[in-house]
Amino acid sequence: MPTIAHWVDGKPYSGTATATAPVTDPATGAVTGRVALASTQDTRTVIEAAAAAFPAWRDTSLSRRTEILFRFRELLNQRKPELARIITGEHGKVVSDALGEVSRGQEVVEFACGIAHLLRGGMTENASTNVDVASIRQPLGPVAIISPFNFPAMVPMWFFPIAIAAGNTVVLKPSEKDPSAALWMARLWSEAGLPDGVFNVVNGDKTAVDELLTNPSVKAVSFVGSTPIAEYVYRTATAAGKRVQALGGAKNHAIVLPDADLDLAADAAVNAAFGSAGERCMAISALVAVGGIGDELVAKIEERSRTLRIGAGVRDNDMGPLITAAHRDKVASYIDAGEHSGAAVVLDGRSVEADGGADGFWLGPTILDHVTPDMSVYTDEIFGPVLSVLRVNSYDEALELVNASPYGNGTAIFTNDGGAARRFQNEVEVGMVGINVPIPVPVAYYSFGGWKNSLFGDSHAHGAEGVGFFTRGKVVTTRWLNPSHGGLNLGFPQTS
Ligand code: NAD
Repeated sequence: MPTIAHWVDGKPYSGTATATAPVTDPATGAVTGRVALASTQDTRTVIEAAAAAFPAWRDTSLSRRTEILFRFRELLNQRKPELARIITGEHGKVVSDALGEVSRGQEVVEFACGIAHLLRGGMTENASTNVDVASIRQPLGPVAIISPFNFPAMVPMWFFPIAIAAGNTVVLKPSEKDPSAALWMARLWSEAGLPDGVFNVVNGDKTAVDELLTNPSVKAVSFVGSTPIAEYVYRTATAAGKRVQALGGAKNHAIVLPDADLDLAADAAVNAAFGSAGERCMAISALVAVGGIGDELVAKIEERSRTLRIGAGVRDNDMGPLITAAHRDKVASYIDAGEHSGAAVVLDGRSVEADGGADGFWLGPTILDHVTPDMSVYTDEIFGPVLSVLRVNSYDEALELVNASPYGNGTAIFTNDGGAARRFQNEVEVGMVGINVPIPVPVAYYSFGGWKNSLFGDSHAHGAEGVGFFTRGKVVTTRWLNPSHGGLNLGFPQTS
């Protein structure tokens, strides 16, 4: 049974701790490896490597950094099928979806290849007589990235390409449920010529996370995961004086107005609810049917959902298993609770027959109709293939529902009425909005992030906000001596 170690200074590092956790193939239930769980001391060793590599990396020229980024991009592009299969083996998502995840991460690498342009400062000549002012952006130091299980490649790539391009060094703490993608990317960085110690991986659980949040050498933390942990990370790391962006959980609504193209809306609902078995922070888990379209819309969604092939991601299936048996059981218990509270089970994933191992963590697509806002299946983030349908009478009622949610990650509206769509984009209290687009994940040169309990901190991920997060500004005011000395003046400096 392979032990999945850490990655420090350009090579694997076993650490001194003996604790490990099992890593499973969710399509068979088989344990395929054991991941090392770092002790506090192991985590310090990794942070120290990142701190030691920082001075030389921050002073490495932008052209050299860009050259390495381009090489990383080329290698990633050539070998992404390899990475996709690693993701499928530990996460369970189908290979085509894993490839999509890698491609979306690659977009951020491509964005970071423009770092020379992104870091360009400003300069003003003669702000005062013979005085020039320039603004520059500098890296922070070692930064920590703590990522969730559901995007083991893309979520780390929301952050590390920009962090590294900007001159920081990185410690990545991937999810202990699917850690191998992080190590594969670490090897790729070495192959691309990144100096040792610039990109490091520490595997572990709360012990490793707590050290990353409080160790004084770590200057910033990018976290993605569930809302309670995001809030904990934000509070702990900001109290330790760090810059933090902590992206949390979600409950994303799609509103379907009576004038919408119902076939388009039904396709979108199926894709967004059941893609990656609903284990996406941008999944649509609540569908709000406005006016009298509920029956027709639900029938269209049900018809499409019944055609989905559920099974092992390495074969030609549409939807894979859930991440663990415990998570599958938890999601199933929400379906039980919804049924007991009076929701109609239109499609029941609890009795799925999957093209996979008998011990795989299977749960099929589930549609619950006539869900009401007091049901736990609606109030809680379930993170599984469960679509709740709510019925309301008006646009205002639908908007009220979305805005009352404690989460504000993504949302979508389906309509052919431009005025209604425009009103929605203006009024909805959510960070990412789709108009006839079900999963509105922004492209890399825009920034990704939710509102309310879906993000703690001020900066969204990647795009201009990502560059801002991983750098700090400095303004330099310069005067070169000339023959006219000004003499003493204790007043506050003014332009003249
Ligand atoms: P999680 O919160 O359980 O774990 C996230 C990370 O935190 C992991 O690296 C984990 O090891 C660590 N962690 C877990 N418990 C901890 C603790 N008690 N103290 C310190 N660290 C701890 O999340 P998950 O189950 O891996 O991922 C799913 C969640 O992530 C969902 O809630 C989903 O919505 C969210 N997510 C959000 C976004 C977003 O952009 N907002 C993107 C992807 C996933």
